[in-house]
Amino acid sequence: MFSKNEVNVKGVKIGGSNPIVIQSMTNIDTKNVTANLSQINNLAKAGAEIVRVSVRDMDDILPFSEIVKNSSLPIVADIHFDYKIAIEAIKVGASKVRINPGNIGSNEKIKQIVKVAKEYKVPIRVGTNSGSIAKEFSNLPRSQALAESALREVQLLEKNEFYDIVISAKSVDARENFLANKYISEKVPYPLHIGITEAGVYEDASILSSAGIGTLLINKIGDTIRVSISGDPLKEVYLAKQLLILLGFKNGIRVIACPTCARTEIDVERLAYEVKEWVKDKKVNRNITISVMGCVVNGPGEAKHSDIAIVGTRNSSGAIFLSGKFYGSYKKDKIKDKLLELIDNLCL
Ligand code: SF4
Repeated sequence: MFSKNEVNVKGVKIGGSNPIVIQSMTNIDTKNVTANLSQINNLAKAGAEIVRVSVRDMDDILPFSEIVKNSSLPIVADIHFDYKIAIEAIKVGASKVRINPGNIGSNEKIKQIVKVAKEYKVPIRVGTNSGSIAKEFSNLPRSQALAESALREVQLLEKNEFYDIVISAKSVDARENFLANKYISEKVPYPLHIGITEAGVYEDASILSSAGIGTLLINKIGDTIRVSISGDPLKEVYLAKQLLILLGFKNGIRVIACPTCARTEIDVERLAYEVKEWVKDKKVNRNITISVMGCVVNGPGEAKHSDIAIVGTRNSSGAIFLSGKFYGSYKKDKIKDKLLELIDNLCL
C-alpha cells in the first residue's frame, strides 16, 4: 500500500497503491496435502489472501505441487538453505518464494534461483528476523543491524538484476521492529512484509502485533501483514483482518462503545457484544463505525464521529443517531433490524 514498487503474486498485488494484503502460513506437515488444502480453504474464508507453506526438502516438492495445483489462494514456498528446492518449488507452481540468500550459499546458486524466478515471473521475499542478524552489523544499533541485514539480502538479488522483491525485517521487539522497517522504507522502493516475529500466544501476540503492525501502518509503512500467533493460523487471519478494519485500512464494520460510568442507562457491554454478533457476517463496501453509548447526556456528542450510534435511554431501549443527528427511538427487539437496514443504506 505504501511502497513505490509493487509485485504480483499470481494476481494478488502487493505494494504500490494496492490494499494491504493479509498473509498466513499453514502449520501442518506439507506431506499431508488434504489437511493443508483444508486449512488453506479455511484461511481463505477467514480473509487470508496469500498463504505460505514450508518446503523442507526434495520429498516435499511433490506434495507441495499438489497443494499449489488445488489451492484457492496463491502459495508462497518457504525455503531454507537449498537452492535446488527453491528452483523446483518455482517450477511446480509456487506463486512466490521466501528465501534467505545469505544461507543459500554462493552467488552462482542465487543466480540460478533468480533465472528461474524471472522465467516464471515469481517474486522473491527476502529478509531477516531479530534472531538472524548478520554478525558484520553487530556494532550497529539493533534496529539498524536488523535493517542492514535485510538490505544485504536484497543486494544479493539486485546484484543478479532481480528486482521483483518483497522485504521483511521482523523483531520480537515492537520498537526495534518499527525502526528497522522505517529505515528500510526510506532506503529502497520494495514492498514490505511486516509483522512481529515470535509474538507468542494469542493474548500477548494480539497486543504486540497491534502495536508493531499498527504503528508501522499508521506511519505509512507496510504492504502486506502476517500476524504471528502460536497455534491455529486461523486466529492470525481473524486478528489481521480485525486490525486492518479497526485502523481503517480495510472495508468493514467497527463497533466501538463507551467505557461506561455512573450515568450509564443500559448494559453497554452486553449490547456492544450483541451488535458485533448481528453485524459479523454483514458484507459492506466501505468502513462503517457503529458506537454503543451508555447515556443521553454525553453519548450523542461522543458518538458524533460514528456513522450510526445507539445511545441508551431510560424510556426506550435505545435512541439511534445517524452521523450525530437524532434518527429515532426503538425498543430493543427493533434495534437489530433497524441497524441492519441503516447499514444497507450506507452501502448504497
Ligand atoms: S457515554 Fe454516557 S454512560 Fe458512556 S461513559 Fe460517556 S457519560 Fe458515561
